[in-house]
Parts: sequence; C-alpha cells; structure tokens
Amino acid sequence: MTSKSSSSSKETGKNKPGLKDESVTCGFTARVLSDSQLIQTIMENSLDTIYFKDRESRFLFNSKAHVIQFGVENPRDVLGKTDFDFYPKCFAENAMRDEQEIMRTGRPIVGRVERWEKDNGEVIWFSASKYPLYDDEGNIVGTWGTTRDITDLKNAEKELEHVNQEYEILNNKLKELSVVDELSGLYNRRHFYETLNKTMKIFSRVRGRGYSSTFSLVLMDIDDFKNINDNYGHLVGDDAIRHIATLLKKNTRLSDYVFRYGGDEFAIVLPDTDKPGSKELAERLRKIVEATPFLFNSSRLPLTISLGTATFTDQVDSVELVQEADMNLYSSKSNGKNRVT
Ligand code: GH3
Ligand code: MG
Repeated sequence: MTSKSSSSSKETGKNKPGLKDESVTCGFTARVLSDSQLIQTIMENSLDTIYFKDRESRFLFNSKAHVIQFGVENPRDVLGKTDFDFYPKCFAENAMRDEQEIMRTGRPIVGRVERWEKDNGEVIWFSASKYPLYDDEGNIVGTWGTTRDITDLKNAEKELEHVNQEYEILNNKLKELSVVDELSGLYNRRHFYETLNKTMKIFSRVRGRGYSSTFSLVLMDIDDFKNINDNYGHLVGDDAIRHIATLLKKNTRLSDYVFRYGGDEFAIVLPDTDKPGSKELAERLRKIVEATPFLFNSSRLPLTISLGTATFTDQVDSVELVQEADMNLYSSKSNGKNRVT
C-alpha cells in the first residue's frame, strides 16, 4: 500500500483536502489520490464492513463500520482479536471454519447469508464474501472479506412472504365462496352446471372409446317445506335446509357432487353410476331423510323428500338430462311425494 503519487507541477485539486496534485494524462485524471488515501477512504467510509485476518483468524485491519458494529470506536482496539471476542460462539466457529477452508483451497466464498442473533434477541442478517489474502510471493497468509447488512431486505422478504400467504388464503376463500352456497355449505347452482357439463364431457369421451361406464343425476325437493316456514318461521326453515344438506353430504361418496339447486331443491351428480345404482342411492337417501327427523326445540319435525333420477346416455345433452330428472321428480310429487322415480 505504498503511494505511487509523484509531485507533479499540475495545480489540479491542490486546495482540496486529500487531493494530490497529480498529472492529467491523455485527457483524463490519472491519479489524484495515493493508494493509502484510497484505502483510507474505503476503510473509513464504506457502510459494508471490511476486514483482513491472519491465518489464525485474528484481525489485522478493520474498517470503521466493522468496529462500530462491535461497539468499539477505534479500529486499533480490535487488532489481534477474533470473532470469538464479539460474536456468539457458534457464529464465530462457522466463520473460522469458512476461513480455514478458503486458506486450504484458495477458493473465495461469495454472498453467503449469515444470521447473527445479538444478546438482546435482535437478529441481524449479513451477506458475506470472503477471499484468500496473499503476500507478495503468492502465499496465502490469511483472509479478507466484506459484509453487508441485509436485515432490512430480509425483513422485507419475510413481510412479502407473509402478505403472499395471506393473499393466497384470501384467494382460496374467494374461489370457494364463488362455488359454495352460503346457507347449506353445499356447492351452489352455478357450480352445478359447470360440474354437470364437465362430467358429461368426461363420460362422452370415455364412452367414445367403447367403455360402458356412465354417470347419473338425482334431483330432489323437500316435501311440503312451506309448512315448516309457515308454522315455525323462516329461520327454522333455514335450519331444516341445513339438516337435509348434512344428511345428503354424510350419505354420499366423496366422489359425488352435492348441490343446493334452489330453495328447497338439491341435486347430486354421481360419477360412475348407472340407472339401477342411482335409483338405489336415491331410495337410500329417501329412507334416511324419512328416518331422521329434524329436531327443533325438543320437537321432532318429520321431513320427507321426493326424488327424480336420470342417467347419461349418448343421446342426451346436459339440458335434456336435467329435464328428464326434473320430470321424474315431478312424477314423484304427483304420485304422492316421499318417493323415487
Ligand atoms: P312440495 O312438496 O310441492 O315441494 O311443496 P313445498 O311446500 O315444499 O313447496 P315448494 O317446494 O314449491 O316451495 C319451497 C319453499 O321453500 C318456497 C320458499 O318460500 C321456501 N324457500 C326457498 N328458499 C328458502 C330459504 O332459503 N330458506 C327458507 N326458510 N325457505 C326457503
Ligand atoms: Mg318443496
């Protein structure tokens, strides 16, 4: 770090403190500061910490920012000391291991993220780069490095991660809200048509390949539901709708789709279910509803449902399928209710 400046006759920067009167060559300022002045500028003003260590990881030369980090005013006061004098043992051990490795291999470590937890619990994050330190003969005589405090960046990253998580939760909630009926918790009518069309496409493709598997649709409506509303009020009517919804959900397969189709109407899409299968399920649900009265203020209010089924064949489209199930439901109603058609 010897000064390469010479005493030139040029007056450039002569009156500015720290500036050398160096020559201007080929139209640009070749040298205005000595090597030691350049080094001093860096070591006193860099906000990144800079240090040089000997082979035993003892400090040889530290920047101002580095010693301030240790709570020391004068860089001379840390000479000969090590990370063990200032950082937690584990942190200092890791640093020393890195330095031993750098001196063994000659390979630098660039941009390593380090975590320093202070005694008061404060956490500081660093991005550290370390290099081998060579003497004039090319022997490795220690290490040197720079460290940047990236705590603000890390905290911002963490905050962003947190915001992203909240955004994802909100997004999933919104997605769910758009397909779920608020009162019953079942899928809503809009999702019914999406599901029906999707299921129809899948089974058309399957059947187009020569397979006979199909799916069915069951529509159902609570019998004489108006009586519940009229006799006990609308809120109790709401509870009765939830009661039926729970029974339907509980007694269908996970692969079945259960919808609240309208006021007191429900629909179930049954993948991989033929006509006898759909009739069997409909009858089972009818019996379960009949056998499970809705409880209100210790009264048992009997409820029944009428059901209509339809099974997908190659001729029908989704509108026709709904019409067929609806007609069958109508037949169940007109033939005395509490039955399956
Ligand atoms: P049917 O056996 O012919 O089905 O007779 P019903 O009395 O059940 O008559 P219908 O199915 O035509 O009427 C359903 C009633 O459901 C009409 C409406 O006031 C009521 N309703 C519709 N939506 C809701 C709701 O969200 N909550 C409550 N409590 N009642 C509803
Ligand atoms: Mg009804």
